Amino acid sequence: MTRSPSRVETLPRDALRQLQMERLQVTLNRAYFNVDFYRRRMDALEILPEDVSMPGDFQAFPFTTRRDLADHYPYGLFAEPLRSIVRLKISTPALGDLGKPLVIGFTRRDVTMWQDLMVRLFQQLGISDRDIVQVAFNYSLFPGAFTFNHAAELIGATLAPSATISATLQLQIMRDFRSTTLATTAAFALHIAETMERSNISPSDLNLKLVMLGPDPLSDVIRARLESSFQVPVMSLYGVAEMVEPGIAGECPVKDGLHLSEDHFLAEIIDPVSGQPLPCGQEGELVLTTLSAEGYPLLRYRTGDITVLKDNPCPCGRTHARIAPILRRTDNRIFIRGISLYPENVEHLLKGLDPAVLDIRLIVATSHGIGEQLEIMVARDPGQPFPEGGRSQYLDLLRSHLRRVLGFGARIQLVDAERLPGEGLIHKTVFRSQTSLS
Ligand SMILES: [Zn+2]
Repeated sequence: MTRSPSRVETLPRDALRQLQMERLQVTLNRAYFNVDFYRRRMDALEILPEDVSMPGDFQAFPFTTRRDLADHYPYGLFAEPLRSIVRLKISTPALGDLGKPLVIGFTRRDVTMWQDLMVRLFQQLGISDRDIVQVAFNYSLFPGAFTFNHAAELIGATLAPSATISATLQLQIMRDFRSTTLATTAAFALHIAETMERSNISPSDLNLKLVMLGPDPLSDVIRARLESSFQVPVMSLYGVAEMVEPGIAGECPVKDGLHLSEDHFLAEIIDPVSGQPLPCGQEGELVLTTLSAEGYPLLRYRTGDITVLKDNPCPCGRTHARIAPILRRTDNRIFIRGISLYPENVEHLLKGLDPAVLDIRLIVATSHGIGEQLEIMVARDPGQPFPEGGRSQYLDLLRSHLRRVLGFGARIQLVDAERLPGEGLIHKTVFRSQTSLS
């Protein structure tokens, strides 16, 4: 049975706005007094935390970017001393911050807040203590996977962390333990669906009632494909690696966007080029401000995610605004089997290992629009000797470095520069579909 939404999820918009402004005030004070970077910015603008009393006042404040995070690595943006930090969260760097992972810190209260947010998203989808939640993520590459565990246990559901065991075993667990909810990536869900069809397992052999996907975005095509295979609703969750991922937003049964937890995050939509705020309903870049984070407050953080914000009432009764599924980014981030990477990083890494590398292409083999396999074509100056040993040692060197940095293996091919295919819309990247999208 679906639990009805809590009081804070159904606050009238003006009361919610009031709550946001109060929490923003606390956040600005915390940032001003505890983080030099923010204090210097506010001083330069001659803004004091108490000057911000209306949402419009806050728009005078500069954006925080990934570059700012990298520039202040390791602790420059922490608002609490390390002894108060109980958890660090480490994520993939982007171009410009290469070599420096993005590391944010959580206090005990932040960790609890993240878990509560996930519990909310679970309950929004009707998950209760009667459910069996099978969590099929790569725990070492996706730190957010642990939050699925915590939320399931807090609700009192039965947790089955099946991680990355084969699709056949996932199905066996699903059948024998009567899992009601499958939480995984879109790519792995598709693989499980295909294995299920090949093994002649029918959805009625399973006890599934919900498939929950993250962290990569879910398109309508993939959703339709998975819903027809599993015969249950397929829902997506949203998060931001530099805040909580997932946990910021999630779908309700109405499936008309993802409710954003506006009591903990202040959302704005901006024109990604001019930086000017855009009205509700217009597509632009999502900018988020944390309203309750203690360890790592972020003010007007540019997420790079392109979406639309809607604050009209939702039939489910929740008043928190919804974002449309994120299908585009302002940067070149791509996903392979649910793991994010930036083509610029791969290029930089290869050129760093071997200065004779002239150019590269990332060939992403996709299945139903989702990145499945990565092949890298490398063109190097034929006049230059290999850095170590011969051609095969050279390819081994590239392969092992890439595996270490990306966390998964990629095929590498050495080709003449004129044989490289033309680039697509994404830097040095070409997508090749292995399946039709029907
Ligand atoms: Zn709703």
